[in-house]
Amino acid sequence: MFKDGFKLIVIRDGQFGLKQFSISPTHIIILLSVIILGVTGSLFLFSDSFAEWAYAKKLDRIREDNSILVDRIKDNEKKVEQLIEQLEVIKEQDRTLRNLVKLPQIHDDIREVGIGGNEPKDESSILEYLLPVDDVNLLEIDKRIDFLRRLFNLESLSYSEIIDQATSDVQRYRSYPAIYPVELAKCKFTSNYGYRRDPFTRKYKFHDGHDFSARTGTPISVTADGVVKSSKYYGTYGNYIEIDHGYGYSTIYAHLAKRKVKLGEKVIRGQNIGTIGNTGRSTAPHLHYEIKYKKKNVDPGQFYFEPKEVN
Ligand SMILES: [Zn+2]
Repeated sequence: MFKDGFKLIVIRDGQFGLKQFSISPTHIIILLSVIILGVTGSLFLFSDSFAEWAYAKKLDRIREDNSILVDRIKDNEKKVEQLIEQLEVIKEQDRTLRNLVKLPQIHDDIREVGIGGNEPKDESSILEYLLPVDDVNLLEIDKRIDFLRRLFNLESLSYSEIIDQATSDVQRYRSYPAIYPVELAKCKFTSNYGYRRDPFTRKYKFHDGHDFSARTGTPISVTADGVVKSSKYYGTYGNYIEIDHGYGYSTIYAHLAKRKVKLGEKVIRGQNIGTIGNTGRSTAPHLHYEIKYKKKNVDPGQFYFEPKEVN
């Protein structure tokens, strides 16, 4: 039946005339093809614009995520800069400590470079693709973090060196006359090291130590670890104590009221060895204190760790 095709009869409303069309199988195939093409074509167009819309949405979301990431990166950038500033303080302390234990200073050039670690790889092209933001330079941040890491390594090495030096040389530091022989609150610093008018003859004479005036009986402390080399009444010095600290250092304490240590006795820094008096060639109760290095008098002012308040 299909072979012969169809007959289409059209009856117009309100009219009696009939119209008759013959539709061959070829016509039907053409018609169906046109319909199928039309439907798939519009589906294709629609799906394409849908994909575009979805893509735009996704892009928006990525942009949003990106801006959150950029904020975080900027925060971290600030933190890195703060850490570098804090390292300045550690650097200063490092300097002081190295001075104290007599280690050579780390040169600023070495600090600038730091040690350990490799140069960061140049990944700028990839990073630019990931983060097309002008004011974020990930490569630069990488470099700063790497710099920070190397500075930390350097300081950590430096501090272990300082600790090694300090502990291996601990006896030497214990032997260094580093404190005041009389508590500063209990005495008055009355005479410096150097030329002065002699209180007896009124002539200019070299004063080879420091004088601390205080009430008779005020305790005197030995200023470093050592061994009593002399404890006796010694002419113009009156009651006299000399301590040998080793490493070339010795200290002398004169005009004492009482001596509390004996020849050959071991003493430790801060130990009470006697009291202030007015014995020997002395006009008022005071301690005459001397430091000798390799048997020569040196200025005690250069030894005190705490600054001296001259009054
Ligand atoms: Zn004196």
